[in-house]
Amino acid sequence: MGSLTCLLFLVLSLVLLVHAADLYKVLELSKSASEQDIRKAYKKLSRKYHPDKNKEPGAEEKFVEIAHAYEVLSDSTKRQIYDRHGEEGLKAHEGGHQHHANPFDMFQSFFGGGGYGGHQVRKGPTSTSEFEISLADIYTGASIDFMVKKRILCDHCRGTGAASSSDIHECKACNGQGVRIVRQQIMPGMITQSQVTCNECGGRGRVIGKKCPHCNGNKVMDHTQHYTLEVPKGAPEGHEVVFEGEADESPDWEPGDVVIRIRSKKERGGWRRKESGLYWKETISVEEALLGFERNLTHLDGHIIELQRHGVTQPGYVQTIKGEGMPIFDTPSEHGDLYVEYNVVLPTEISPETKKRLYAAFHPEATGSRPTDEL
Ligand SMILES: [Zn+2]
Ligand SMILES: [Zn+2]
Repeated sequence: MGSLTCLLFLVLSLVLLVHAADLYKVLELSKSASEQDIRKAYKKLSRKYHPDKNKEPGAEEKFVEIAHAYEVLSDSTKRQIYDRHGEEGLKAHEGGHQHHANPFDMFQSFFGGGGYGGHQVRKGPTSTSEFEISLADIYTGASIDFMVKKRILCDHCRGTGAASSSDIHECKACNGQGVRIVRQQIMPGMITQSQVTCNECGGRGRVIGKKCPHCNGNKVMDHTQHYTLEVPKGAPEGHEVVFEGEADESPDWEPGDVVIRIRSKKERGGWRRKESGLYWKETISVEEALLGFERNLTHLDGHIIELQRHGVTQPGYVQTIKGEGMPIFDTPSEHGDLYVEYNVVLPTEISPETKKRLYAAFHPEATGSRPTDEL
C-alpha cells in the first residue's frame, strides 16, 4: 500500500472511528480484561487483520479499529476515562479532537519492527522445556496449568525505553548511522580507517532523553505468564507442544516459541509404558501361582480389569491383555496391549505343621516326614 493511500485511508478511518464499536468488543474482551489480556488480544488480532496479510475486504478497517482499541485500553488513564465516559469522554479529555497513533507504526513498535511490514526481522531464541507428566494424565489426556517466567516488552513505552516519543533523538555522535569511522595513525604517514559500532547509542542510531519510568529504560520487563498445556491422549514420549511467539520479547526480534516436550514420569513400582504398550507387575502368592486366582487390577483411569489364571503361573510369566494398553496417539479410540508380569512371593517362614503337610502333598506315596528333617 502506498504511503499516500495509506494516509488517506487513515484520515477516513479516523472519522469513522468516532462512531466506532465498543473497544472491548473490538478486541474480543470483557471489561474485566487484564493488561496482559489486552496485549494478547492485540497481538493476535492485529496480525490476523494486517492488510499485508489479510486481503479480505474490511480487514484494513478492522486493523485500524483494533489499533485504536489497543491504544486506548492499554493506557490505564485513557482506559479509565473510556470506561466511565466512553469515546466522548476521551475526546473531551484530549481537548475536543482525539489524536490517534498511526496503526502501522504501532504495529511495528509492538512487534519490534517485525510482523508483516516488509523487512525480515530475526526471531528470538526458542525456549524448550521438558515436562514430566504422570502416565495417568497421558492415558486420559489432560489440561495442565503452568507458569513461565519471561521478558515482555514494557507496556508503557512499548519497548522503546523512552518516557515518551519526544524523548527519542537521533544520535548526534553517529548521525543516526549506528556506526562511526575511526581514523588512527599507526605510524607517521600511515592512517588506518575502520568502522566501529557507535558507543554513544550502541549501534542503534538513536538515543533516549528521559528514560521510561516503568521499565527504567530497559525496554523489557520480567513477567510471569500462565499457560495451559493440553496433553493429548497417548502423547508419545518427547511429544512437543509449541506455544508460538511466546518466548522472551525484545525490541530487537520477533519472539521465538516456547516448546514443551512431554515425558512420562517414572513412577516407582507402578506402571511403565513402551509406546502404546503398558506394563504392570503383579505380585501373587505361592498358592495363587500353583492353584490359579482371580484378582482385580485398577487401571490408570480407575476402571477395573479382571486378572484370571487357572493353571500354574511361573514367576516372570507375562500375560497379554489385548486393548488395555495406552491410547494410540492420533487414533485415541484404539489402544495398545497391557502386559502383566507375575512375580511370585514366597512366605518367609512356614510352621512345622505346614511343612509336614506340604511334604505329604509332594510325596503322596510316603507316610511320615522327610527323613532328613527332624520336625
Ligand atoms: Zn550513535
Ligand atoms: Zn518502558
